[in-house]
Amino acid sequence: MRRIRRGARKRLIRWTRRARELDRATYGRLVDYHIHTKLCGHAVGEPEDYVREAIRKGLSEIGFSDHMPLLKMTDRRLTMAPDDLPRYVDLIRDVQASVDEIAIRLGIEMDYFPDHMNEIWDVVSPYEFDYVYGSVHYIDGWGFSDSRFLSSYRGKDPDQTYARYFELFCEAARNGGFDIMAHPDLVKKHGIKTKLPIDRMYEEAAAALREADVAIEINTSGLRKTALEPYPTVGFLRACAARGVAVTLGSDAHAPQQVGMDFDVAVRLLGSAGITEIATFEGRKRGTRSIAGE
Ligand SMILES: [Zn+2]
Ligand SMILES: [Zn+2]
Repeated sequence: MRRIRRGARKRLIRWTRRARELDRATYGRLVDYHIHTKLCGHAVGEPEDYVREAIRKGLSEIGFSDHMPLLKMTDRRLTMAPDDLPRYVDLIRDVQASVDEIAIRLGIEMDYFPDHMNEIWDVVSPYEFDYVYGSVHYIDGWGFSDSRFLSSYRGKDPDQTYARYFELFCEAARNGGFDIMAHPDLVKKHGIKTKLPIDRMYEEAAAALREADVAIEINTSGLRKTALEPYPTVGFLRACAARGVAVTLGSDAHAPQQVGMDFDVAVRLLGSAGITEIATFEGRKRGTRSIAGE
């Protein structure tokens, strides 16, 4: 029954997507900082295609943030090889130089691996990123978010998965050195739920973010997954807003048409948390931008 309802909701989201699309003036006040490139091996389209879609929608600022090479693993469907990092930077610098209708930032999405952060930061030190996303895609070596390996959930206790995810999330916010924590409650991606007091986890996570002065994003890609809602959920966002945690926006686009996708939902979510400005980044300095219309 739940599966039927979820299927209907998924279809509804797809059908109404065009009709719900924000007008260009509203898009013009927003940013999309979470955009991938085909270098990661599971995204399609040229960077120019993503930029063109952003311009079509009316966004005035976007940023690429492809997956950082994994130093301890090689999986060409997961992320670029270490040698590709300079190519990625050049690729984005080229688009920046050839397009002037829109501000294009250079970011990167780093995985949080507690024991290897120094090594990882050493690899990116030659580059000048505008922002660095931190992601918890791994729970003690388990790539829980990888849709190719859903069977890996078998035999896992959802409560333990949630508890450990949030533990790592707080640790990453505090010690990772990141500017933005990506898809804050990614643990819900494949629809697993916990019976633990989840509000307490949100409160603790919001406190860690505030303490470390790290921003989060509203990531709309959850609407394209089993979770069927953006990351984070409204309760988590409200906990962040109450503490003054900075919030920015990302679509996690892995295809050009996904740039700025479902941002009407993100805008509504911001509204329901009483957030009137979003965070912007340049040269790893955070700024703010009002999202209120005239
Ligand atoms: Zn990806
Ligand atoms: Zn991403």
